[in-house]
Amino acid sequence: MAAQLTKYFKGGLGDLRALFDAVKNYVSVVVGYRVSGDAVGFGPVESLESLPLGLEDSQAPGAYRLSRGSSGFFRHSHASPKYWLHLPVQEVFTVLEDYAVDIARYDTYSAALFGIKPCDLVSMEVLDRILKNDDSYWSRRSKIELVVVEECTVPGATCFCGSIGTGPSASTGFDIAYARLSNGIIFKYGSEKGLRILEKLELTEVSEEDVAEYERAIARAGELTRYLPPPSEISKSLERSVSDTSFWKEVSSRCVGCTNCNMVCPTCFCTEFVDQIEPSGRAKRVRQWFGCLSHTYGQVAGTHYRPELYMRYRHFVLHKFLFYPKQVGLVGCVGCGRCITWCPVGIDLREVVSKVVSRYGS
Ligand code: SF4
Ligand code: SF4
Repeated sequence: MAAQLTKYFKGGLGDLRALFDAVKNYVSVVVGYRVSGDAVGFGPVESLESLPLGLEDSQAPGAYRLSRGSSGFFRHSHASPKYWLHLPVQEVFTVLEDYAVDIARYDTYSAALFGIKPCDLVSMEVLDRILKNDDSYWSRRSKIELVVVEECTVPGATCFCGSIGTGPSASTGFDIAYARLSNGIIFKYGSEKGLRILEKLELTEVSEEDVAEYERAIARAGELTRYLPPPSEISKSLERSVSDTSFWKEVSSRCVGCTNCNMVCPTCFCTEFVDQIEPSGRAKRVRQWFGCLSHTYGQVAGTHYRPELYMRYRHFVLHKFLFYPKQVGLVGCVGCGRCITWCPVGIDLREVVSKVVSRYGS
C-alpha cells in the first residue's frame, strides 16, 4: 500500500527555527525543556538555542548524564510539563501585617509548549482529568494555545512508552509534531491550526521513501521501548498481588522513601498546604507538591494509614496501573522512565511490574 503523503512535510534545522519563531509570534511565552547551566529544566524558552538540541542525555536506573554526544538526542530531564501547569509551589494567600488577606492571582498569559515528548503529551491528558476542578492548573492549562511535540526516534534506556502506547510518536492532542531523522526533519500536523502554521513555512513535499523511513524509525523506537505486557494485563496481575506482603517488601526493600519518584513523575499530582511565617509578621499559605512515598503523607489525625515503606511503594505502583484507570479511565504511568532514572537506589519500575506479572499472571 502506498504511504500516506499529505500528512507530512520535510525540512531541516533552519525550518525548525522558522517554526519556533512562528510559534513565538503566536503566543506570549514559549515553554519547553530548556538548558540552564549544566542542567535541563522546563520553563520559558527564548530561542531554539535554549532547547537541548545537540545535547545527549544518557539514562539508566539511578543515573543521568548530559553531554554533547554523538547522537545528540535529548529525551527528557527530571522536569516535565507538570512544572509549568501544576506548579511545585503555588501561593494561595498572604495574611498581611494588618490581618487583611490577599488572595493570590493566577497567571493568565497565553503559552505554547514546544518540543515536548509524546509521553509528556499524554501526561497532560492524565493531569487534565485528575485536576479537572483545580483552578490553579486550569488557569495555565486553558492558556496553552499550541502544542508542538518532538517525536522520539532514539529512545532512552529507561523509556518504556512503547509498552503503554504513549509513544514514541504522537497521535492526538497536539498541533504539530516533528521527528529528527538522519537526513532531515519530518513535520506533521495534528490540527487545522498546526497545518496553517506549517503551510506558511518553506517546507518541501515528502517522498514515499521519506515517509517509509520515518515510519521505520518510529517502529524501531517502539520496539526498543516495549518491555511490558499491555497495561490492562498489568492491572489484573497487580490486583491479585495486593495481599502478598512478602513480595512487596522484597521488591521495595531498597526504597529509602525519598519521594524522588513522585516529584519527577509527570502524572503525580498530590500536594500539601504549608504556612510560612515571615519575620515582618506576614504569613503566607502555599500549596506544594507532596509524595505518597513520604512517611508523613499517610499520617492522619494521630494515626497512619500506610506506616510501612513497602505499603507506600506498593501504593505508588498500584495507583499508576490499577487506580488511575478506575478513577479517570487512563493509565497513570506514561512510560517516561523518570522514576527509574531519578531513583537514587535505581529501583526499576519495569522490573517490579515484570515480577508482578510473572508471579500473578496476566
Ligand atoms: S510512574 Fe515512572 S515511568 Fe510512569 S509516568 Fe511516572 S515517572 Fe514516568
Ligand atoms: S525514588 Fe526510589 S528510593 Fe526514592 S521513594 Fe521512589 S522508589 Fe523509593
